[in-house]
Amino acid sequence: MAGAALGTGILGDALAWPFFEERHRAFAATLSDWADAALPGLPHGDVDAACRARVRALGDAGFLKAVVPAAHGGLTEALDVRTLCLAREILAARDGLADFSFAMQGLGTGSITLAGPEAMKRRILPGIRDGERIAAFALSEKEAGSDVAAMATTAAPDGNSHVRIDGEKTWISNGGIADHYIVFARSGEGPGARGLSAYLV
Ligand SMILES: Cc1cc2nc3c(=O)[nH]c(=O)nc-3n(C[C@H](O)[C@H](O)[C@H](O)COP(=O)(O)OP(=O)(O)OC[C@H]3O[C@@H](n4cnc5c(N)ncnc54)[C@H](O)[C@@H]3O)c2cc1C
Repeated sequence: MAGAALGTGILGDALAWPFFEERHRAFAATLSDWADAALPGLPHGDVDAACRARVRALGDAGFLKAVVPAAHGGLTEALDVRTLCLAREILAARDGLADFSFAMQGLGTGSITLAGPEAMKRRILPGIRDGERIAAFALSEKEAGSDVAAMATTAAPDGNSHVRIDGEKTWISNGGIADHYIVFARSGEGPGARGLSAYLV
């Protein structure tokens, strides 16, 4: 099957399920056709360059609009999880790194989209949508993976209008090549999972 076009066939009859709408079927067909044609030509080898190439190609083709709300040039008014699931299935079946690149653009901006100030959204989201910026999401630590409440990294005002973040993260995808990091840290409003905040670094 190597090199053969997969089309939407990899989704089986899932596209006929009642919670998918015509717009989802159209998105899946367009992305599948593009992925069959474009992904085999992207570079492998150096993983950082390969990742940058995939983010840029997904942005140029307009598919990263799915990770940004319409107010900032995205596909739907609010992020549409069904569209995100379809995109990940379609990309992962062909090219794991393409799926990874797509997913990280959303993971590394989801907290901005959901809770960030308007000025931050205007500054960050268009470049993510166009594949010009790369996002990262820094939550995991040596002793805090599934158990996020065990997070040890701290954040506190430095007395100079900024926040000082102290700690060590691990497993951070896009580490070293990201244009920004959403870093989770203990801000102290409450115990365990209640006292955590996300910071744009
Ligand atoms: C390729 C890769 C990329 C990653 N990228 C990122 C990233 O970009 N940013 C980031 O923040 N993190 C990232 N991670 C980290 C990832 O999110 C963590 O590995 C994950 O949260 C699991 O944490 P852990 O490895 O500490 O495993 P643990 O939390 O120690 O879990 C180990 C095992 O115990 C099970 N387990 C845990 N808790 C319970 C429970 N209460 N009851 C029963 N079973 C339980 C789990 O299911 C698992 O099987 C990445 C990991 C990988 C492998």
